[in-house]
Order: sequence, then C-alpha cells, then structure tokens
Amino acid sequence: MATRRFSRRQILGIAVGASGLALSGRLAAFAEALKPTPGEILGPFYPVIKRVDQGADLTVIAGKPGRAAGEVIHVMGRVLNVEGQPVRGARVELWQANAQGRYAHASDKNPAPLDPNFEGFAVQTTDAEGRYRFKTIKPGAYPATGNWVRPPHLHFDVTGKVNRLVTQMYFPGDPLFPLDAIACSVPEPARHRIICRFDPETTEPYWALSYLFDFVLRGRDATPMEA
Ligand code: FE
Repeated sequence: MATRRFSRRQILGIAVGASGLALSGRLAAFAEALKPTPGEILGPFYPVIKRVDQGADLTVIAGKPGRAAGEVIHVMGRVLNVEGQPVRGARVELWQANAQGRYAHASDKNPAPLDPNFEGFAVQTTDAEGRYRFKTIKPGAYPATGNWVRPPHLHFDVTGKVNRLVTQMYFPGDPLFPLDAIACSVPEPARHRIICRFDPETTEPYWALSYLFDFVLRGRDATPMEA
C-alpha cells in the first residue's frame, strides 16, 4: 500500500487548519448560545392563584407532610441577554402539570388525578450570575385535542429588566416532541433551543436527574413592555 509522507510545513498547515476549525466551532457554539430563546404561548393553565410562600422546591408544600408523586428532577440554568451578560434579579415563574399530566387549575378537564402534594407553581429570582434553580417532578404528557398528546413540558414566564419571555421547555429525546403542534410552531432551526440538556454533573444518583436550560432574552430592540 502506498503511504503518503507529509512535509513539516504540510503538517503545520493541517494542525493550524484543524485548530481553526475547532475555534470556529467554539465560536459558532458561543454565537448560537446568544440567540434568543423562542417564545411560546402562555397556554390555558397559567395559575390564577399563586401562594406567596413558593420557593424553589415544588415537591413539597409548606405545612403538608407528604411529597409530590413522580420522578424528582432539578432544572437550572441562567437568564442571559443577547450580549451574553447575566440578567440579575430576573423573575422566573414556573408552572406545570403533575406526574399524571394534570394541572391544578379549574380549567383543566383532564380526568387524570390531582396530586394533593403538588401545586405546580414556583417563582425564583436570579442571582448576580443570572442563575435560577428549581427542584420539581417531571410532568406527565397530557391530552390536548383529538389524537394530539402534549409532550412533558414546563411553562416559564421570565421577566428581566426590559424584556419578558413566555416559553415552554421540553425534555431531550421525547418521541412526542416532533408531533407537538406548539413545539413545531417554533421554526425548525431554533427548535432545539426549547429543549433542555441532561446534566450528569449535577444529577443526584438514584434520586434526581438534572436538566440545564438557559433563557436568552431579546435585546433592547424588542418591543418594550410597559410597567
Ligand atoms: Fe402545558
């Protein structure tokens, strides 16, 4: 078999090219991270009653001895602006269905049972690095209309200094995701930005999987909100 010998100059050229490719890949990943998180509809089950003592842990209710049924998960990440700067003091509201896919909301006609130990709402304020963190349970899928079943998802309403983002977060590898009319209303090139990422680093073995999800708020050119 013929072998090809490379000169020192050719090898250097290949090395520089490869590192350039790696660098451009990193830059592309960085630029991608700064694209705004796509917004989605608020949906019909936004809480009408919000208890004032809600913290970061949705798996217990103050004053009740029980725990929410279902798979415990951690969801954490950062709120950033399109320049990549953390948004400190952002309000991050989370609401969701329980493990059976039922919302604790009067408008939810799903016959799945309510969980007396799960209300499905919490709010956090981001720290100086723009971080937030919730402990909750993985919501169940639930019927929408006809044959349409909504994939498990978390609803978020994020209010920064000048912007607000209402969106939904989905889980990686979900077979219902590509069939979901709401998720698919996000243009395909941006759709991966509404899917969280499994994080083995912060996962608690045999107890709680961790998922990372960053919110990127639109810039100052977005339509401003009124106070
Ligand atoms: Fe929903």
